[in-house]
Amino acid sequence: MGIGVDVHAFDSSRPLWLAGLFWPDAIGLSGHSDADVAAHAICDALLGAAGLGDLGSVFGTEDPKYSAASGVTLLSEVAGLVRKSGFVIGNASVQIIGNQPRVSSRRQEAQDVLSAAIGAPVHVSGTTTDGLGLTGRGEGLAAMAIATVSSSDNEI
Ligand SMILES: [Zn+2]
Repeated sequence: MGIGVDVHAFDSSRPLWLAGLFWPDAIGLSGHSDADVAAHAICDALLGAAGLGDLGSVFGTEDPKYSAASGVTLLSEVAGLVRKSGFVIGNASVQIIGNQPRVSSRRQEAQDVLSAAIGAPVHVSGTTTDGLGLTGRGEGLAAMAIATVSSSDNEI
């Protein structure tokens, strides 16, 4: 089992990519690649479960190949690494923390995209922090994820 946490600040000059989806009319996030907090949190959860480090150590935030990579692309790459290391991905669950957008309105769509990216079920939920902290003040979005993997019978 692995855990992943990610946070990005809002940047009104950028489009919002969240949980593998484009959210028109929503405020975007600043940061590395498309700043998809949900995808990045799941990446770290998968890497942690497989004992492979984290996004920064695997890809490096300086690598231009990944500076423009979508969260879904990174998820697919991470899932491939996990499988190459001899693991089967069980499932993942991610919770997006923030005031907007309302994740529940597109939950199934997000789950479909993220599940396809890692080849295993992904559950997506959303919550707020009752006005407290950086997400409550509307400064950005956060996400927490867990993922499970098990040893594969197929040694590579
Ligand atoms: Zn991130």
